[in-house]
Amino acid sequence: MAKPYTMNPGFYVPAADRYQHMEYARCGKSGLKLPRVSLGLWNNFGSVNVHENSRQMLLTAFDLGVTHIDLANNYGPLPGSAEETFGRVLDSDLRAHRDELCLSTKAGYYMWEGPYGEWGSRKYLISSLDQSLKRMKVDYVDIFYHHRPDPDTPLEETMGALADIVRQGKALYVGVSNYSAEQTARAADILKDMGVPLTIHQPRYNMLDRWVENGEPSLCDVLLERGIGAAVFSPLAQGLLTDRYLNGIPADSRAAGPCVFLNESGVTEDVLSKVRRLNAIANARGETMAQLALAWVLENPVITSVIIGASRPAQIEQNVKTIEKHVPLSDEEKAAIRTILEEK
Ligand code: NDP
Repeated sequence: MAKPYTMNPGFYVPAADRYQHMEYARCGKSGLKLPRVSLGLWNNFGSVNVHENSRQMLLTAFDLGVTHIDLANNYGPLPGSAEETFGRVLDSDLRAHRDELCLSTKAGYYMWEGPYGEWGSRKYLISSLDQSLKRMKVDYVDIFYHHRPDPDTPLEETMGALADIVRQGKALYVGVSNYSAEQTARAADILKDMGVPLTIHQPRYNMLDRWVENGEPSLCDVLLERGIGAAVFSPLAQGLLTDRYLNGIPADSRAAGPCVFLNESGVTEDVLSKVRRLNAIANARGETMAQLALAWVLENPVITSVIIGASRPAQIEQNVKTIEKHVPLSDEEKAAIRTILEEK
């Protein structure tokens, strides 16, 4: 049962045992440690959502040792409003704990009209981060990412902007998201020449999307070889890798809502048939489907953290319990999972 927090801002007292539920892993070869479960604010933290629910989710996460909060300039809806929601909760409840938080934001996707509102120019990245800092009500973020590769801007310019952002103290670490293995290797080389490490990559990775494992070299190979950490997004495939859709599509689920990245047509019989069999393996281990899916990602030694999304505090509680409950998968279980995932 989620602990209900007072509706009155300013009265939040964090749980004294908040660091006893979580494990922290070093992000690549950097000094930065991330919680193995991080919270992303892409959905359910916008101005269209009930603020009190967003606040309860952030405080639930903090009380369970989830110190890493992932944002981007465009998260909402409306774009920018998830950063504003975070800034509001920081002010009402978490301001005294700023130094216990690792805050990430990004720029890369469309944010404002005209030639400077998206992609990877120095002009866009530096002005977007300035806007994000205002919305989040902080002087600096801990991690700033370039959100997607830009086919037209020279990578030297994009990485130069990231290096300058670190030198200006507006971000402590920098990363890239959605970059291929080859793009990541080039970005890391360019940054290294500028004296700034590429600390982290944010790829999508889950049981149903294993692109990071493929290729010569794979993204995993590049990250391991260069000591770059990985915080992965959509580890639950937006909810498909949970028990959410096993008995139909609930009216309050992401697939039934306005999210353009998951709709009812994405909940296919092929996916459900895999998830039913994976769910049986999870239940036999005393885990939920979501816990098995998160643990499976975290067993990959390249992965520093899974960035979960949530629509209610109880999902965060269940997902964080993975860390306390999970016993490493046996060779037989790994083989059974592989057979299900590789089945056409
Ligand atoms: P997930 O794969 O974790 O999906 C989250 C959704 O799964 C929730 O909204 C909820 O759906 C459902 N869910 C979560 N836990 C449970 C549970 N225990 N039981 C049942 N259902 C559950 O991640 P997201 O796709 O939301 O992405 C996570 C974060 O990654 C984002 O917030 C963002 O920070 C980042 N991201 C980054 C991208 C990038 O390009 N760099 C792209 C996309 C995401 P429901 O709403 O139906 O309850």
